[in-house]
Amino acid sequence: MEDDDEYDSYWDYDDGDFDCDHEGYDIDILTGVAWCWRCQHKWFVTHEEITREIEHQAEYMAQFECDEVSNG
Ligand SMILES: [Zn+2]
Repeated sequence: MEDDDEYDSYWDYDDGDFDCDHEGYDIDILTGVAWCWRCQHKWFVTHEEITREIEHQAEYMAQFECDEVSNG
């Protein structure tokens, strides 16, 4: 039997262990929760940030818009 305690502790780090600027993170505009894929940190974003993200996504999607007419 191998003792894998060392291996366990390798993954046992918390947010403060290394500097993360949360540069690359996703915002879930439905829940208002941001998630950093680098450090797995989750936090709630402000209404402003959500609004900005929605606008950003809308602009992004507009690039791929087809000739489809949506009357919504
Ligand atoms: Zn982060």
